[in-house]
Amino acid sequence: MAVIVVLLLVWSTLASTALPPVIRIGAIFTEDQKDSSVELAFKYAVYKINKDRELFPNTTLVYDIQYVPRDDSFRTSKKVCRQMEFGVQAIFGPSDPILGAHIQSICEALDVPHLEARIDFEPLSKEFSINLHPSQEHMNKAFKDLMTFLNWTKVAIIYEEDYGLFKLQELVKAPAAARTEMYIRQAGPTSYRQVLREVRQKEIYKLIVDTNPRNIQKFFRAILQLQMNDYRYHYMFTTFDLETFDLEDFKYNSVNITAFRIVDVDHPKVKEILEVMEKFQPIGHAILNKSGIIQAEPALMYDSVYVFAKGLSDMNYNYSIKPMNLSCDVEKPWDDGLSLYNYLDSVRKLHSLTGNIEFNGGKRSNFKLDLLKLKKEEIRKVGQWTPAGGVNITDPNAFYESHAPNITLVVMTREERPYVMVKEEKNLTGNARYEGFCIDLLKCIAGQVGFQYSIRLVPDHMYGVYDPDTKEWNGIVRELMEKRADLAVASMTINYARESVIDFTKPFMNLGIGILFKVPTSQPTRLFSFMNPLAVEIWLYVLAAYMLVSFTLFVMARFSPYEWNNPHPCHQESDIVENQFSVSNSFWFITGTFLRQGSGLNPKATSTRIVGGIWWFFTLIIISSYTANLAAFLTVERMITPIESAQDLADQTDISYGTLEGGSTMTFFRDSKIGIYQKMWRFMESRKPPVFVKMYEEGVQRVLEGNYAFLMESTMLDYAVQRDCNLTQIGGLLDSKGYGIATPKGSPWRDKISLAILELQEKGVIQILYDKWWKNTGDVCNRDDKSKESKANALGVENIGGVFVVLLCGLALAILVAILEFCWNSKKNAQTDRQSLCSEMAEELRFAVRCHGSRQRPALRRSCTRCSPATTYVPAALDLPHINGDRLQGRLLSGGRHPAHDGHEEVADHLRRGHLAAT
Ligand code: ASP
Repeated sequence: MAVIVVLLLVWSTLASTALPPVIRIGAIFTEDQKDSSVELAFKYAVYKINKDRELFPNTTLVYDIQYVPRDDSFRTSKKVCRQMEFGVQAIFGPSDPILGAHIQSICEALDVPHLEARIDFEPLSKEFSINLHPSQEHMNKAFKDLMTFLNWTKVAIIYEEDYGLFKLQELVKAPAAARTEMYIRQAGPTSYRQVLREVRQKEIYKLIVDTNPRNIQKFFRAILQLQMNDYRYHYMFTTFDLETFDLEDFKYNSVNITAFRIVDVDHPKVKEILEVMEKFQPIGHAILNKSGIIQAEPALMYDSVYVFAKGLSDMNYNYSIKPMNLSCDVEKPWDDGLSLYNYLDSVRKLHSLTGNIEFNGGKRSNFKLDLLKLKKEEIRKVGQWTPAGGVNITDPNAFYESHAPNITLVVMTREERPYVMVKEEKNLTGNARYEGFCIDLLKCIAGQVGFQYSIRLVPDHMYGVYDPDTKEWNGIVRELMEKRADLAVASMTINYARESVIDFTKPFMNLGIGILFKVPTSQPTRLFSFMNPLAVEIWLYVLAAYMLVSFTLFVMARFSPYEWNNPHPCHQESDIVENQFSVSNSFWFITGTFLRQGSGLNPKATSTRIVGGIWWFFTLIIISSYTANLAAFLTVERMITPIESAQDLADQTDISYGTLEGGSTMTFFRDSKIGIYQKMWRFMESRKPPVFVKMYEEGVQRVLEGNYAFLMESTMLDYAVQRDCNLTQIGGLLDSKGYGIATPKGSPWRDKISLAILELQEKGVIQILYDKWWKNTGDVCNRDDKSKESKANALGVENIGGVFVVLLCGLALAILVAILEFCWNSKKNAQTDRQSLCSEMAEELRFAVRCHGSRQRPALRRSCTRCSPATTYVPAALDLPHINGDRLQGRLLSGGRHPAHDGHEEVADHLRRGHLAAT
């Protein structure tokens, strides 16, 4: 038994001395890393391992450090070869990914473990490489998981190093969600601002920033200069060193800044290591960035030395190691290299600065990244990421602060009745000072969307118009453009010009431009008021119709043979025929019937009867219309309205008119392409004293003073009209538009507020608010609606013009019938007279025309002037017995020329009888 114990002791002593007393290691640092925290961390780790003697009590680590120029792979390779000749058992560094790849190939050729802490783009594991830095594949997965968690759909990637794009290509190739839009730009200290400006213009608010940590302050400055530091922006930094940055300028302004860290400084083990390190003077302070915080690179370097030591000590139990001087020229690999590498790759149960250390094919596995986020006052851990579990958020509110009710938005507004009014009580402060429709609406929306607000009045008291001379906006629009406010809740009209520089929500109220005018005074009663029921032109047309019809009757009666009668029917022998429709009788007949009286005259011929009938119809309509409208005129109060529409305003210059200054109503006229509005604008612009007013109240006051029309928005107009019975709206609305809540361009609040407005509209809340502020305020004036609203208008051509048409048609018919009568009679006479129809007609016509002016004419004797004395004219209208009539008439008309008869007696006899029958 004692022999066995002695043997074991001897074996264990032999085993523990399997490591040579000195193990050489080589380290490569770039020249700019000389005396840097990375180099110091390396030296400190070696010192610590040698001093503690926990891992290998009898062996000392000896290092050889070489500095190489960055990007000089030739010199770097030469230096590494020299270290190999010197007999190093491992190479550490450098952190530069390009140089690292060169050294890797030398180590691979000579079977020397290469311990590095650099970003590795290649997904495949490389022989003899132990990389403490999490692989880029894992990093990209972590970023993608976070983007998916945060639901990013539009992302900008800003990278600095040339290999940045290569590094992040996985993010670009397979975006977190298929619909993620990526905007990728390379930027350096000189172009940070320009690139960020482009990002802002593209309205991208989520950024992945892969810039050089050394230039981070310049990047931060660009963010501040461009004011890209509000709650909308989210910067995800790829660096592990967020805690080491000065984020003082970003605290309290709600900007989202996140990053992963690999050193969990809150872990007790890590805390302990850092404490010891910090106490190690004079280099402790130089390794640590600030008390208790270390950058990732020195931490990874520190850990890589420990990994080497742990692997070596693990190997030490089973394997004796024989150091060897190697040469790049001979290329003979180190025999123990592979074994050592395998021990390093299978290091377990090592918890150091970068957490649990395990490898798989030389790459970190089973590690953890903490997710950090800048909160109000400090950076806090809000979750973690592991290759197996993905993102795990431990602070559920971490990313939703912008939606939380403690966001306070600056709401710009303008005093305007009844939208925003300042309360009269003096001791009120904050939002409590204001009341009105918009204030109530804002309260509802804020409650629904979830924000707090602070109301401010716009300094220049304008809604906002673009001044083409200065090329600048003013009023609320400018405040929003310059981001001095988050919202504008006022009676802000949505129009094209404004929408191109700021955003508007869906409209919460619809309106148009109307004309406010003073209620017209009652018309004084006039002596000739009886004329009012008919328009002047109707009176003139009636007069013209009277003349025309009278004259037509006269002419027609002269031509119609049936209007010529024997004036003395008892004296049958009389050869005189008479026409009752002389000029004066015609006028008298028409006058009498027009005034619904008799005239003692009766037309006998069909044509004249048609004239009479149609005239009676005409008078019936005119007199009934006149009577009906006169009744309306006598019961309705007449108003004098000098203007009825915008056209009336434009056509005159006596009444001046204007709009609110610096508002959309003004720009409506200024920018209009419609002739009448352009004319109105020229008038308004040139008018002295100015017709523009600063406040709506001022405009209303000017209207009340008289001789002024105020062009204002219908909502405000309704409010004014409902409250003052001396005001009225003239005509209809000139346009149609809406009020919306304005936000700066790209504001995330717009859509949410639009939704809230639609909901409030559908629930009827906006209508309730309207009624509250417009109707139920108790100061609404009582208008005698009947007398003001009902108006009797003079009847014009459009109302009774038809009756004139009927009259003209009747007259035309009568003329036609008269011509037929004339022709028919002439034809008959021509047969009897055995004359040609033409000559008979010409004779009759001449007779009718020649005997003008006399009521009587001798019965047509062909001898009267030119015809034989025995010939007598007998009108066919005499109702001679029909059977004989024609025959007789024919004979009569042939008169004395018929040899068989004494025509004279017979005609007189028939005339007598005929006339009697007719009368
Ligand atoms: N509400 C209008 C505006 O937004 C004011 C006006 O011009 O009548 O400008």
